[in-house]
Amino acid sequence: MPTTNDQRPTTLLTIRIGYGWDSHEFKPGIPLLIGGVQLPYDKGLGGHSDGDVLLHALTDALLGSIAAPDIGSLFPPSDPQWKGADSAVFLKEALRRVHAAGYQIVNVDSSLILAAPKIGPHTATIRARVAELLGIPPDCVGIKAKTPEGMGTDNAAIAHSVILLEKKAGKKKNNARPAGKSKKKSARRKR
Ligand SMILES: [Zn+2]
Repeated sequence: MPTTNDQRPTTLLTIRIGYGWDSHEFKPGIPLLIGGVQLPYDKGLGGHSDGDVLLHALTDALLGSIAAPDIGSLFPPSDPQWKGADSAVFLKEALRRVHAAGYQIVNVDSSLILAAPKIGPHTATIRARVAELLGIPPDCVGIKAKTPEGMGTDNAAIAHSVILLEKKAGKKKNNARPAGKSKKKSARRKR
């Protein structure tokens, strides 16, 4: 488990955004894991870890939101300790870094792009599991699935994820907005 504080210095902005993308190829005879949920299918996603394309995209979105190193840098495929690893381990490390940087998750949204199997019947289960892993309510977890029309990627699963963070409530002194600024803002809003 990486422990070094190797992310760039994080300016404590009020909100931050993160984005992650991943793809894996289908292989016969291995379990299919998406969002930490095993789906019934005769193929699974190949990769050095458990191939969970959605958890990898979410992990990179979390890491990107605080300008931390990406998933491949923290958990290199060349390192045998990550062979067949549960991708929840990657997500939890990214979440730990987000919390340590002084932020909490507002909401996440993801799109899955795959020809099969159908994700619709499993969306609620995946949302619940992702929400549990991230420690946020299921209504803060968006999961959408699309088929790859005209993309020629029928033997792959692709995931895109975005995440919004907000600064954790801290000392009141730091959160107080200068009176002048808020006046300006409300004046602007009236226009
Ligand atoms: Zn991956």
